[in-house]
Amino acid sequence: MQTKAYAAHSATTPLGPHTIDRRAPGPKDVAIEILFCGVCHSDLHTVRGEWAGTQYPCVPGHEIVGRVIAVGSDVGRFKPGQLVGVGCMVDSCRTCASCKEGLEQYCDGPVSFTSTYNGPVGGGPNTFGGYSAAITVDEHFVLAISHTEKDLAAVAPLLCAGITTWSPLRHWGAGPGKKVGVVGIGGLGHMGIKLSHALGAHTVAFTTSPGKVADAKALDADEVVVSKDEGQMKKHLNSFDIILDTVSAPHDLDAFTTLLKRDGTLALVGGSPTPHPSPAVHALVFKRRAIAGSLIGGIPETQEMLDFCAKHGITSDIEMIKMQDIEAAYTRMLKSDVKYRFVIDMASLKN
Ligand code: NAP
Ligand code: ZN
Ligand code: ZN
Repeated sequence: MQTKAYAAHSATTPLGPHTIDRRAPGPKDVAIEILFCGVCHSDLHTVRGEWAGTQYPCVPGHEIVGRVIAVGSDVGRFKPGQLVGVGCMVDSCRTCASCKEGLEQYCDGPVSFTSTYNGPVGGGPNTFGGYSAAITVDEHFVLAISHTEKDLAAVAPLLCAGITTWSPLRHWGAGPGKKVGVVGIGGLGHMGIKLSHALGAHTVAFTTSPGKVADAKALDADEVVVSKDEGQMKKHLNSFDIILDTVSAPHDLDAFTTLLKRDGTLALVGGSPTPHPSPAVHALVFKRRAIAGSLIGGIPETQEMLDFCAKHGITSDIEMIKMQDIEAAYTRMLKSDVKYRFVIDMASLKN
């Protein structure tokens, strides 16, 4: 099936119109008309070759929502017309211990999981993501959406920004009686604030942008700290159970490890293309603090997060763009000027 898309042909060429081939649905496949796709900073890292291993042409996009147009003969969970989502993965080995636990993002199979774009993590044929009119996906990797249709565009970012913050918040136990920090108020960070607050944790947002302080409060942060202000930072020394760091660039981690209480965890989710300055060992050993990482989330926990968000009325704060405006959106993303997720209206692909 010839499908309209937007692709980058090298790290230095802007994205432009492109045609890709989507498979006709096999017995276990769901064919989806893509209605909206969120714009993740990972799309930018990938198309611009900031991480190793980008395959070109590159069609990014892993915050996909749309409508089922056809299903294979063995598909039981989905019907044509239904609203569905696809996140960062479209396949995995299904047999390793991580896959069996529903943590497909940590698949131990020979090529690990298959990303929605840029192919299997361990190397293999290219895959094409959500900056396109349609996609065909095995039903195991399709998520049911129970939000109302009018919220659909604002649900798209939950498929990456939502699950990438939900998974570590749940893993490290964010909830009542816990103090949680969220560093960087961008696509991931703004979802982290909403989800942490909704889980019942006392939630503190850290930003380098003083202009986002009022917004962060509106996003449900209980407190907001401008991280460049040492006086504001000092007030929170030794007090956090969890700090979720979503920053997309290298920065000083000691500023945050020192804010953890004994046994607290700094969970890194931001994918800085170059290393952070080495953390001070003493800041870790004296209070048995940990620095950890977390990758997106598994399919069962993604469904759990979507259902939680539908129940609690949680969506992303979005700015809708046309496909043709993607490069301008990337430019603003690099200036930390996103309020708080760009979402592409795929109707614009038809223009
Ligand atoms: P984003 O919307 O661009 O937000 C990143 C935020 O980080 C900015 O808004 C800014 O917030 C802060 N920031 C940016 N540059 C900074 C710097 N030099 N120093 C300090 N703070 C800075 O990006 P995103 O889509 O949320 O993605 C964030 C990162 O997570 C990216 O690297 C992305 O690739 C990665 N990611 C990882 C996973 C995973 O599974 N681990 C999944 C998705 C994305 P303030 O203005 O508030 O300071
Ligand atoms: Zn993403
Ligand atoms: Zn596996």
